[in-house]
Order: sequence, then C-alpha cells, then structure tokens
Amino acid sequence: MKKNFKKIFAVALSAAFVAAAFVGCGSDKKADSNKWVVGTNAEFAPFEFVSSSNGVIDQYSGIDMEIIKQIAEDNGKEVEINNMEFDSLTVALKNGQLDAVIAGMTVTDERKEAVDFSDPYYVAKQVMIVPEDSTIAKASDMEGKTIAVVQGYTGEVAVQELGYQYEAFKKGTEAILELTNGKCDVVVIDSATANQYVKDNAGLKIVEDNDAFESEEYAIAVKKGDTETLELINASIKKMKEDGTIDAISAKYADMSAEDDTASDGTASDSSAQ
Ligand code: GLN
Repeated sequence: MKKNFKKIFAVALSAAFVAAAFVGCGSDKKADSNKWVVGTNAEFAPFEFVSSSNGVIDQYSGIDMEIIKQIAEDNGKEVEINNMEFDSLTVALKNGQLDAVIAGMTVTDERKEAVDFSDPYYVAKQVMIVPEDSTIAKASDMEGKTIAVVQGYTGEVAVQELGYQYEAFKKGTEAILELTNGKCDVVVIDSATANQYVKDNAGLKIVEDNDAFESEEYAIAVKKGDTETLELINASIKKMKEDGTIDAISAKYADMSAEDDTASDGTASDSSAQ
C-alpha cells in the first residue's frame, strides 16, 4: 500500500512537471490575438538596432522595425518586439514563443527546414570589409588571410563554401573591432550592415565580388505551417512593394549613422526585392 502510494505520488509529480514544462515552453505570449510577438536581434543596423534619446534606450529602430510595424498595422495588430540572440530566433518560433521573426534573415534551404518564409522584402549580398590600404580586391585574395565572420550568419556559410579558414565572432561589432585593431584582415558580412560599419569606423572600405557572393533575399519567418500569419504578412509586403513603402523605408535609413536615430534622406545602396 505504502509502495503504491509512492508510485501514484511519483506519477502525479511527473505529470505536474510535464504540465509545467508545457506552460513554460508555450509561456503563451501569443495568447493575445490582437498582438504579434515578433523576434529580432537588434544588432544589425540599419535593419534593427536599439536607439536612445538623452542616453536612455527607448526603442528598437530600423528598416525591419518599420516594415513589421506597418504589416501589423495593416492587419490591426499590435507588435511586441522580443530582442534575442540571432541563433535563438528560429528555435523560439518553433517553440511557439513568437508569431514571426524579422531580423535581416536570409532565406536559406537549411532555415526553410525549420521555418516558413514570407515573400522576400529586400535583396542583399555578402561583401568584404577591409582596411583602406588592403590589397584584397576580390574574394580569392582572402586566401591565407585572417578572416572574421559572425557566427551563424550567412557570411559564415559563404566563407565556408569558398573553403577558407575563418574566425567566427558572436557579434558584428566584435568582428569589426578585430579588424580596426589590426587582428584580422577582412570581415565578411551583409552589404547594408557593412556600409553602416564603414560609415561609423574611419579607415575601412568595402570590397565587393559578385562572382563569389550570390545575392541573398531577406524575408520574415513564421512557424512552420502557420499559413494564416504568412498570408497576412505576404499581402502587406506585396502592397508595400507596389506602393513604394519598402523603398522609402530603405532610403530613409541608407544614410544614417549608428549614433543617429533620425535617418536622413538618401539612396538605398541595395534595393528591395521585386
Ligand atoms: N543576413 C544574415 C543571415 O541571415 C545576417 C542576419 C542578421 O544578422 N540579422 O544570416
């Protein structure tokens, strides 16, 4: 009898744990149907960055942030931005903690296995950032050089595919610091973000090699099978491409410096996907 009680207690206890795990895992942030919980990694200017006024961090800004706000508004939703590690974003989508991810995220076959992507809203490519006096003029000149990339970004994959050794950093700023300190020869990263780093750090330049680096498309990710959210997002993206909203948002941020939260007018160096 005593033994039986123990057993029942153990079963009840483990059931409680399973239930708790479900609650924790769902932590159902998405319970509010009027709100989209959107994941990003706000370390990717000009697409997403934390901006401050009077030294106080007050909001997430950038091209992606404006795009997602507009999409949500078109669909009568509020947006709650969750700033997370880039690598955790697809996992959080899978776990049902997020409704969508917008993070300058390139559509790749590997990611397509984990999430569903919207229609693309931006075209980018990998470029090389080097010191102004560097002799690197094309991707093959990186052979034998010290190459820095950001871990988990498509830049890492691109360098892997070229077959070169590299060092992967957790953040773009860390890779750039390595370059400005003379500890590496080149950083491979997305084009618009590279423009940003070159504007904000004296003595650097961008080298392109369109034969070595194919163009990439940024899209919004949703949980696999969430066609309802995907269709709403796609309808808005279509509208924003047609009426010029995406081009206008991109142009607004093309000339900003990371310290500004007010972007000035300018011409986007990359174009939105057609
Ligand atoms: N476009 C790159 C990728 O998808 C980098 C994205 C990012 O850092 N936000 O891997």
